[in-house]
Amino acid sequence: MRLEGKKALITGAAQGIGKAIAFGMAKEGADIGIADVNIESAEKTAQEIRESGRKSISIKLDVSKQSDVSSAFETFMKEFGVLDILVNNAGITKDNVLLRMKEEDWDAVLNINLKGSFLCSKEAVKIMAKRRSGKIISISSVVAFMGNPGQANYSASKAGLIGLTKTIAKEYASRGIRANAVAPGFIKTAMTDVLSDTVREEMKKAIPLGQFGTSEDVTNAVIFLASKEADYITGQVIHVNGGMYM
Ligand code: NAP
Repeated sequence: MRLEGKKALITGAAQGIGKAIAFGMAKEGADIGIADVNIESAEKTAQEIRESGRKSISIKLDVSKQSDVSSAFETFMKEFGVLDILVNNAGITKDNVLLRMKEEDWDAVLNINLKGSFLCSKEAVKIMAKRRSGKIISISSVVAFMGNPGQANYSASKAGLIGLTKTIAKEYASRGIRANAVAPGFIKTAMTDVLSDTVREEMKKAIPLGQFGTSEDVTNAVIFLASKEADYITGQVIHVNGGMYM
């Protein structure tokens, strides 16, 4: 088991990619904090992980609120005592073309996707720096590198995450903290289920491997970065996109 005894906090882990990462890490021996705005589904996910034999708690967290973030990390530390891994996974979309994009939709996406990761990373670094060890993994997106019509707010937030990741990597390497990002392409989750069949078919044409990825494809990259095998890797991005962006 590659994460035996590790303690991981995953944001937005009630469903989708975050949930898959939680299950994948638990299977590799980690205990997991499931942090999400939706506390009912977060508790369901935590319960399933406990039934699989690992320790897990649900934590109510809106990543865009400093007070929530502080108390979530406090709750996690009370339960687990150490923090080895933070996965910044919580994210939303509020799509529209630039001229129709409302300021509030720009703010909502930037606040959750980028500011949320800043706030959580800051709490994590405070804890990890003391032990001179820790891994921070942020879930970016292929659109950070390619742009995407209708997603000015989302692509900007996901590109911002890359700058945040590289800066944390440089600032805290001397404290034993590794910061990396995973940039998924189109992955089958609730976020992409809302797309019409026509849009989905068009998208598949742009993917050399000819299909959408799965949450498990993303999980595999995250587990690798969290494991000892990736200890000499920091400030990097792993692209999980079927060749859509090279
Ligand atoms: P998802 O199914 O919508 O899951 C996101 C989770 O985050 C949900 O449980 C959601 O709760 C939670 N969340 C939303 N706002 C939050 C907040 N303020 N604080 C804490 N949790 C919050 O999405 P997904 O597809 O699994 O995406 C996970 C991550 O991968 C996101 O960062 C996304 O941008 C990224 N990503 C996804 C794809 C893709 O194709 N699916 C591709 C590239 C990158 P509610 O459901 O209650 O809102």
